[in-house]
Parts: sequence; C-alpha cells; structure tokens
Amino acid sequence: MLKFDVVVVGAGAAGLSCAAEAGQAGLHVLLLDHAERLAEKIRISGGGRCNFTNRDAGPGNYLSDNPAFCRSALARYPARDFIALLQKHGIGFHEKHKGQLFCDEGSERIIQMLVDECAAGQVERWQPCRVEQLDVIDGGFSLQTSRGLVEARRLVVATGGLSIPKIGATDWGLALARRFGHAIVEPRPALVPLTFDPATWAPFAELSGLSLPVKVSVGSGKARTSFLEDLLFTHRGLSGPAILQISSFWTPGQALEIDLAPEQDLAALLLAAKAQSKRKLGNELAALLPQRLAVTWLARSGLDAEKPMPDFKDKDLQALARQLHQWQLMPNGSEGWRKAEVMRGGVDTRELSSQTLQSKRQAGLHFIGEVVDVTGWLGGYNFQWAWASAAACARGIAAE
Ligand code: FAD
Repeated sequence: MLKFDVVVVGAGAAGLSCAAEAGQAGLHVLLLDHAERLAEKIRISGGGRCNFTNRDAGPGNYLSDNPAFCRSALARYPARDFIALLQKHGIGFHEKHKGQLFCDEGSERIIQMLVDECAAGQVERWQPCRVEQLDVIDGGFSLQTSRGLVEARRLVVATGGLSIPKIGATDWGLALARRFGHAIVEPRPALVPLTFDPATWAPFAELSGLSLPVKVSVGSGKARTSFLEDLLFTHRGLSGPAILQISSFWTPGQALEIDLAPEQDLAALLLAAKAQSKRKLGNELAALLPQRLAVTWLARSGLDAEKPMPDFKDKDLQALARQLHQWQLMPNGSEGWRKAEVMRGGVDTRELSSQTLQSKRQAGLHFIGEVVDVTGWLGGYNFQWAWASAAACARGIAAE
C-alpha cells in the first residue's frame, strides 16, 4: 500500500494545476483520472486554442449562490499569475475579444505545460484509474483504486462539471460531497445553446448559420442581465456568444428579449427613409439588417415587403422597429449537458473554506474547479477559476 500526502481525483485543469503546485511545494502527490485521455476539456476548449484566462477576470464575472466566495482565491491568483506561467514556458498567446487570452500554439501546448509542471513537482499520475472505494481513516483517507490501495492525508476532488459526459464527465465529486453531508446547489447546463418549440421556430430555422451582433436580456428590474455579443441562428434555436452568456442566467419559463439592432434607432431610420425615398420596405430593411433576416422577419410580420416606403403609416414602421428592438421569445429548453460548456451549481460554497477550499464537514477533504458552485461567464473565466481555486487549495495544504 502506497502513502501520499495528497491524492487529487480528476486530472483536468484544476487537478493538474493543484497537483503541480502541491508537488512543487514538496508534497508527495498522486493525481488520478478515470479517462483514457488527459484533460479533454482543455484540449477542446476555445475551438482548440484554449481561452486560458481573461485579463479582466474578477468576482463580478462569476455566478454562485454565494457570490463573494470566489473573491479570495481570485485575488490571490489573478490572471497575470497564469500568464507568467505561460511566459516562463515560452508559450505565445494573443488577446481576441474583451480580455480573452488564447494560446498561439493550441490547447495541447497548455496541457503539456501543466504536465511539465507536474513532473517538476514529482507528481505521480495514474490514468486511467478509478476510485472503487473511499474510506475515512485515522489521519486521512484510504482509497481502493483500480491500480491498488493508497492512503493520503488530504483528498482533493477536482472531477469537474457534468457537461459532455462522452469525454469523461461524471457526478462522482457531487456524490462524494453528498456522502459527507454537503449541500449541492442544483446542477444545470450553462453556456449552452437554447432551443424553441419546433412549430414556432420553423420560420427562423431557415436562418441557420446567420450571425449578427445583438443585445440579449433576461429578467427585469435589478435582476435584469444583458450581454452585447454575437447571436447565431441554428436549426433548433439560438447559439453564439450572446446566447451562451445569457443561458447561464436563464431559468426555464423565462422569456428572453433580443434587440436585433442594438447600435441603431430603427424607428428614426425607417421614418427618415420614408421621407426621403420611394424604395420598397424590403429593400430599406435589408440595408439595416442582414438581408436573410429582413426577408424572414417581414414575411411573418404581415407587412408587404414590396410596398414603397411612403405608403406605410408611421405607426406601422414604429411598431416594426419596436418588434425588432424588443424581440420577445420563450425558449422551451437548452441543448443540455451534451452541448453545455459548463455546469452551473455544484458543491455549496457555504460549507467550504474560501481560503483553502477545504470542507467544513470533513477535515482533509477539498473541492476545487467546476465541481464547486462557482461558474464563470464565457471568455476564459472558467479556466481562471480552475487555476485560482487549485492554487488556493495547494497553498493551503502546503502551509500546514
Ligand atoms: P475538468 O477540466 O472537466 O476536469 C475534470 C477531470 O475529472 C476530467 O479529466 C475527468 O475525466 C475527471 N473525472 C471525472 N469524473 C471522475 C471520476 N469519477 N474519477 C476520476 N476522474 C474523474 N473554459 C474557459 O475558461 N475557456 C474556454 O475556452 C473554454 N472552452 C470550453 C469548451 C468546451 C467545449 C467545454 C466543454 C468547456 C470549455 N470551458 C472553457 C470550460 C472549462 O473547460 C472547464 O470549466 C474546466 O475544464 C473545469 O476544470 P476542472 O478541472 O474543474 O474540470
């Protein structure tokens, strides 16, 4: 039977970086993962280029039932610390949009960097390896794994969220948390395309592939959340960064409001066009919106696209503008775990230390990364939470 200071279960973003930091602090670390391939979510992230952090990441970019929880870890491991790690390894990166940093050489290079960091900490890695039984023993934990029995003083659960089960996501971490009496904030697919009733969606399905900048909002009053991003029409509904962002805030039964021309005052433009031109409404609208959208919208609006602008009443043009600025629509669901980038919800943070991510219910047990109820916006924030929570945990263990 082998003894370790720390066993980390889950060799994804958080697990690899926690193991590396704990190992480099002089702890004897075992990192194990049940999947055949290492860190699949890093590999497929950012379209293969890994949006590894966001330069501006801060607590305001995260959702949680306990929003202040992530503050401490993020403050002690800001984006610049992970950037410094890339620079130490000579890895190039670039900024794409709103502080989002991507790896020049692709996500595989980030995985290799984390593997090298683990090697520098003499981390032992067993993969594929399953935990078959876990018991609390005097001074730590005993784990019966598919590669033998091990003991550890500390157990770090880094098994991630429930999205994309076909590449290794499981509810093992959530089940373990429940076993130790932890509350779980209901897990829900987040950063996910939204779907609509096929009958009502039929006219828009033909717009599949069309992308345009919009402002999307959900909720009202103080609870209203909006994003200015690109929207993408799909056969079954809506996707693109605008919808992925808002999906994390959307709850079933809530309507979305989409401004299809957020940078323009359509009523003023249409009335000006009426005063100045005899062109057809279809042509005028196609000058203001993507043509396919203008055609589809007018076909279901009851307005005659072939009629010249001066023949419309002002109030009809104003109503058309209002509908385009305030498109109300009711999703019937999402594409679910199969397509979600992350899980919203997870281990309730009120029973974890914000300093070390240690359980307040079971000494020596830690939860890090996406399994915890801290969910980032789209744009590198989820990896930043993985790195920051991993660092807080590793440093906390090493400090004892
Ligand atoms: P993971 O990286 O998912 O690692 C969990 C590990 O635990 C896995 O290796 C899994 O095999 C292992 N595991 C699970 N169950 C068990 C078990 N029972 N026993 C042993 N091992 C187990 N975030 C960004 O910030 N930027 C991006 O560009 C980005 N792109 C994404 C693209 C896609 C398509 C997806 C799905 C996600 C993307 N994310 C992105 C989110 C990001 O990948 C995750 O938030 C992040 O990987 C979470 O890190 P983690 O270590 O907590 O979990």
